[in-house]
Amino acid sequence: MSIIQITNLKKSFGLNEVLQGIDLTINKSEVVVIMGPSGSGKSTFLRCLTFLEEPSDGIIEIGEFTVLAGGKIERKRKKVIRELRKKTGFVFQSFNLFPHKTAIENVMEGPIIIHGTKPVEARKLAEALLIKVGLGDRCDHYPAQLSGGQQQRVAIARSLALNPLVMLFDEPTSALDPELVREVLQVIKDLAQEGMTMIIVTHEMNFAKDVADRIVFMDEGLIVEQGTSAEIFQTPKEERTRRFLSKVE
Ligand code: ADP
Ligand code: MG
Repeated sequence: MSIIQITNLKKSFGLNEVLQGIDLTINKSEVVVIMGPSGSGKSTFLRCLTFLEEPSDGIIEIGEFTVLAGGKIERKRKKVIRELRKKTGFVFQSFNLFPHKTAIENVMEGPIIIHGTKPVEARKLAEALLIKVGLGDRCDHYPAQLSGGQQQRVAIARSLALNPLVMLFDEPTSALDPELVREVLQVIKDLAQEGMTMIIVTHEMNFAKDVADRIVFMDEGLIVEQGTSAEIFQTPKEERTRRFLSKVE
């Protein structure tokens, strides 16, 4: 069953056509890793999926929501985009936690504000999620008292608190010191095991091999090729993919 369907997604910044027509279907519980050189449009792609960036053209379907790009910003469309965002967890390179709130308050905020959950319930949920990401003993710490890896795990818990249909990760470990990368990747692997549908942009090759059901290689705003990790890493068809892999490995 497909959970995300993207058809002919395009995005230009002025004359620069950064996404040149992306088609991608993602099934429930599938983990798709997107790789590609810097500037190939990976972040723009994720941002367009959630309308943090308005696509120039294309159709985005997530769950029951369908949005046509470039349409008029009328009221109903805004509402659909809001609903679609509620269903999409987004974890960025930078953790973006509220600095004046504790870990648990950061995780509680979404359910209270967006779902109208009662604070007592939200606290229970947040605590369970912090335990899940290995931070049960850090609930009352402020972001500044946590390592980068711990902050990123709080950010993941915060996204999960909204019970998303799909999780998007944009280079979740690239701002971390090397010794902190593994704990964050482990949390993402655990989510994969539980059947969370995910799109992950990462340069972590071994992680990608481990976790990806499918790897999508992007260059210059297009999907150059896609396949299982064995197909992409061992027998890439396209010269551009081979060149990229020879540089990063
Ligand atoms: P990646 O994540 O693969 O490194 P990006 O999606 O960040 O690539 O960027 C793709 C291209 O889009 C780059 O050429 C970048 O300069 C351009 N770009 C991204 N965001 C903007 C923006 N807000 N305004 C203008 N150009 C942008
Ligand atoms: Mg990027």
